[in-house]
Amino acid sequence: MKNNILIIGAGAAGLMAARTLSNAGKQVTVLEARNRTGGRIHTLSDELFFKNTELGAEFVHGDLPTTINLLKEAGIEYHSANAEMWRYQNGDFEENSMVIKDWDLLIKRLDALKEDTNIWDFLNEQFPGDKYEELRISVRAYVSGYDTADPRDASAFALRKEWEHEEIDAQHRLKGGYCSMINYLSNECKSKSGKIYLNAVVKTIEWKNGSVKAITKDGSVYEAGQLLIAMPLGVLKAAEGESGAITFNPPIPKYSTAIQQMGFGSVIKLLFEFDIAFWLDAKTQQMAGKNVGKMGYLFSDEEIPTWWTQVPDHSTVLTGWIGGPAAADKINTPDTEVLEQGLRSLANIFKIDFEELKNKLVAYRIMNWTADPFTRGSYAYDTVDAPEARKALNRPVEDTIFFTGEYLYDSTAMGTVEAALTSGLQVAERILKN
Ligand SMILES: Cc1cc2nc3c(=O)[nH]c(=O)nc-3n(C[C@H](O)[C@H](O)[C@H](O)COP(=O)(O)OP(=O)(O)OC[C@H]3O[C@@H](n4cnc5c(N)ncnc54)[C@H](O)[C@@H]3O)c2cc1C
Repeated sequence: MKNNILIIGAGAAGLMAARTLSNAGKQVTVLEARNRTGGRIHTLSDELFFKNTELGAEFVHGDLPTTINLLKEAGIEYHSANAEMWRYQNGDFEENSMVIKDWDLLIKRLDALKEDTNIWDFLNEQFPGDKYEELRISVRAYVSGYDTADPRDASAFALRKEWEHEEIDAQHRLKGGYCSMINYLSNECKSKSGKIYLNAVVKTIEWKNGSVKAITKDGSVYEAGQLLIAMPLGVLKAAEGESGAITFNPPIPKYSTAIQQMGFGSVIKLLFEFDIAFWLDAKTQQMAGKNVGKMGYLFSDEEIPTWWTQVPDHSTVLTGWIGGPAAADKINTPDTEVLEQGLRSLANIFKIDFEELKNKLVAYRIMNWTADPFTRGSYAYDTVDAPEARKALNRPVEDTIFFTGEYLYDSTAMGTVEAALTSGLQVAERILKN
């Protein structure tokens, strides 16, 4: 029994742990709620449109060691995704205008901060009045958009750490998409007689020291000596009765409290495929008054504010992004409405008639990750209480229940695939050491 390990969740963290444990001779069984592996990694590879386009994670945000080592081991190629950053504001396109006014002063005052607080209060206290209104708005928009966090409870210390370590120069995309990495991990696990069951929605976990039972929605029971919870924080936060929620029997209150203390953001990702890359045509260039041919990212104040192209690849796909509280507010907004908001945002930016733009659209996919029952959000961010909560969750429950996932990683690439892979590797090593 002790040699058997159950893993709930076949995302990057669960599969990294699964392949490491099965390589070490453990008998691993992975239970995955969806009809596919990958979790928040979802490359659209079998469809007519959006070939190898990412509905979830897309970039490797820097030369990140666990990810790069894994890609090298698997022989998966990756290429630079560095691209120009543009901003559309007050009718103008500006390149590289991402510099936030008074940013240096912000960093200086963050450096001087002795006790952690949330970034919202920090800005109000340290940068009050009309003089700093632009700074407050820009920083909150950045925290919501990039970190997908709620600035009202995002830790100022954690943001300081993130902003001090930003590697803006080294973005990569995987050849064939992130799913090639997921497929590699699944195949490695299966080749060592590991089992991966899809459509296995775990509802209840019954446990005692050295023995666990996971019971799925269809009543199947899986037993093992140890359990690895590799589900997203959003699902673990769900209250009993909410979609995706699981019940521990007996409860583990210390851990449930720690889970509630950590922050989990919100995001909607939109994929639009057009008949042509209209943003490259002469009319748009003339309207922009600039050569936007190498435009990668485009930030705006529209309802769907952030967009990017597939540059340096040639493509007729535009990706839209909305994060943080504004995305959380759209949890019940139908996809058709988000589609319209996306098109309206682009029509405003590129000064194209809405109907004309709609006619150019040949396919779309909208993924509201916050509404998805098996994610219930985007990725983790640190609250003031998160460091202590993370320490608690990184300690196993009676050497029987372990947690893993991007939210348990504690270094500079928070909320990423790197974070998930590193956490998966670390927990597997912890289990093997014990
Ligand atoms: C829109 C979006 C874009 C992103 N972009 C990037 C990016 O460009 N670069 C980057 O590095 N990171 C990015 N991320 C973050 C990255 O995707 C995640 O940090 C990482 O994939 C998380 O992996 P994980 O294994 O911790 O969790 P997950 O991938 O969420 O895996 C958890 C698994 O548990 C399963 N599960 C849930 N409930 C149950 C249940 N009851 N029973 C059984 N199984 C269950 C889920 O279906 C899922 O497969 C992005 C995330 C999102 C949402």
